[in-house]
Amino acid sequence: MTTKANPCIAIIGAGLGGAAAATLLQQAGFTVNVYEQTTELSRIGAGIHIGPNVMKIFRQMGIEDRVSLMASHPDYWFSRDGETGEYMARIELGKYALKEYGASYITIHRGDLHALQIDAIAKDTLHFGKRLEALDDSGDEVLLTFTDGTKATADIVIGADGINSKIRDVLLGAEQPTYSGWVAHRALISGEQLSKYKLEFEDCVKWWTEDRHMMVYYTTGKKNEYYYVTGVPHPELDFEGSFVDSSREEMFEAFQGYHPTVQALIESTETVTKWPLKNRNPLPLWSRGRLVLLGDACHPMKPHMAQGAGMAIEDAAMLTRCLQATGINEYKTAFELYEDNRKERATRVQTVSNNNTFLKTQEDPSWVYGYDLYQQELKMGNRS
Ligand SMILES: Cc1cc2nc3c(=O)[nH]c(=O)nc-3n(C[C@H](O)[C@H](O)[C@H](O)COP(=O)(O)OP(=O)(O)OC[C@H]3O[C@@H](n4cnc5c(N)ncnc54)[C@H](O)[C@@H]3O)c2cc1C
Repeated sequence: MTTKANPCIAIIGAGLGGAAAATLLQQAGFTVNVYEQTTELSRIGAGIHIGPNVMKIFRQMGIEDRVSLMASHPDYWFSRDGETGEYMARIELGKYALKEYGASYITIHRGDLHALQIDAIAKDTLHFGKRLEALDDSGDEVLLTFTDGTKATADIVIGADGINSKIRDVLLGAEQPTYSGWVAHRALISGEQLSKYKLEFEDCVKWWTEDRHMMVYYTTGKKNEYYYVTGVPHPELDFEGSFVDSSREEMFEAFQGYHPTVQALIESTETVTKWPLKNRNPLPLWSRGRLVLLGDACHPMKPHMAQGAGMAIEDAAMLTRCLQATGINEYKTAFELYEDNRKERATRVQTVSNNNTFLKTQEDPSWVYGYDLYQQELKMGNRS
């Protein structure tokens, strides 16, 4: 193997996983360039949960306090019967999470979080408008070709390019992800809209019936923006892109018979979108040669456990640790070590999330939230 004095890493995709990888690798002293297909950041109408397992990585990245300041800090995750409103689970978060799991549990606007993560990447190393079209791993280096005709080279390439990953296609052959049979509706509602109701809008609550649910929470610390995301069975949609418009009428129909609080949320909805939920079976390999995958490129899942981005960010942190341990010229060993120390946990989360059982009834979530990636001993030989 040729040993280079200043090897460089290319990350394809600046989503939540790719952005975390960029910052962590740069902090560790690696030379990193990030290539993102979009021309600018967009603040899509969506919220996101971030568990203590991820906040501990944000601590390492130096953004924990800023994320915390912007976010809502629910004291509980409530699970409630969608029709009767009866409580099925009360999962303690708030101060309890801080004490027991070592960091806060927060909910936040996804665009605000992404902007903070992007801001942490070293200036001039993130290149927008670079859609990867082809790559050639010659053995000595990788040549990247983008759709705008430009080219770049790298010693290793991290595929953080999401569920339709081009890097995954290169490793395993082109294959569409599978439609799960469910869609997610997403809507943001202003706090002002809700003030007209004499109802309680809890900080973080999931309303369930047998085949569908609605997860609801605040996306800001000021609680001036409330968000819902659903899981509803739906025939497959035929369209290009990630989402289509839905409507208040469709929502009323899907949640007929649900609790008055849910009806009030639908009544207050101005814009709602519909996202087909797709996934893949666990991949037989996570890396080959100089290419390695992370996040949704590697283990996409239905989002019902609110840990998909969490797993992408954990991957980023573990991959950084492994590259630090071996040095970049020993990337093959680093990639094996990475898979050995990630596959079991990521696959477990993927399975539970796809089954949509997490926190439906009272249970101990410490295996997810209590996990501290930086306290894990790196072990070789865990791959299945
Ligand atoms: C409805 C819904 C709700 C969710 N809620 C949560 C939640 O509460 N908590 C949580 O942890 N997770 C949640 N998730 C899951 C989470 O969104 C994903 O798991 C996460 O975004 C994966 O991050 P990633 O960086 O791997 O991929 P992505 O976020 O998909 O980023 C991939 C990036 O790669 C870029 N890209 C793609 N192809 C190319 C190319 N050829 N060249 C260059 N760039 C490219 C894309 O533009 C994009 O920026 C939810 C998902 C959905 C659908």
